[in-house]
Amino acid sequence: MLLEVRGLAVHYGGIRAVKGIDLDIDAGELVCLIGANGAGKSSTLRAICGLVPAHAGTVSYAGADLGGLPVFERPRRGLVMVPEGRGIFPQLTVEENLAMGAFSRSDGKIASDLDRQFDLFPRLRERRGQTAGTLSGGEQQMLAIGRALMARPKLLLLDEPSMGLSPILVAKIFGIIREIASQGVTILLVEQNARMALETASRGYVMESGAVTLAAEARQLLADPRVREAYLGEGAA
Ligand code: ATP
Repeated sequence: MLLEVRGLAVHYGGIRAVKGIDLDIDAGELVCLIGANGAGKSSTLRAICGLVPAHAGTVSYAGADLGGLPVFERPRRGLVMVPEGRGIFPQLTVEENLAMGAFSRSDGKIASDLDRQFDLFPRLRERRGQTAGTLSGGEQQMLAIGRALMARPKLLLLDEPSMGLSPILVAKIFGIIREIASQGVTILLVEQNARMALETASRGYVMESGAVTLAAEARQLLADPRVREAYLGEGAA
């Protein structure tokens, strides 16, 4: 198992955002975590990355307990997140943002990896010298994903990559997510766009009010009347 989460709880003062959840992700899987606004999806990702402390529970990655490991050590081990809202550096150029993604690396393949990102995202090649703050929302999302890939992730955590994008761009971003997965990167995808997420992932978890309420193959979840009614905008079957 590449990622094993056991009994994870996240509290913000008196708010119990995540209430003791378990997640298992095998190497090479593309797994999604869906749920309504405020269900605790982002808090789960933030706790896995060490950006918020776990109130309880453990996160084990590649066989090691991550408790107490500094946040910046995680990308070094291949655990990389693309945060909700992208978190790019608006004053830096596209190329500088991508280079920042490789901060934890000291190998000699950074320049060729930069080229690989430009092959994956030709728009970014065209705009390599432009400051990131002037990019469109879709381009910023591509840049955020490209920057994460510069860290050579083994496990990529994506928080709402489709947020604020037009349907055409959403389809494009999901196509890119599939391509990244096909290259062997394990992915945990958090999405409010449940349909796209379940059509892209092989397995899924459903979160409600801080708890995991369903966990199954993505196609089973797509067919589940509870999911169809609550998340796919369909009436009860
Ligand atoms: P969204 O799609 O809106 O990000 P989510 O499923 O990712 O939803 P979280 O962002 O994890 O949910 O939020 C879970 C709960 O924790 C919500 O009630 C939210 O208001 C609360 N919360 C999140 N971050 C904080 C914070 N920094 N301080 C206080 N409460 C927070």
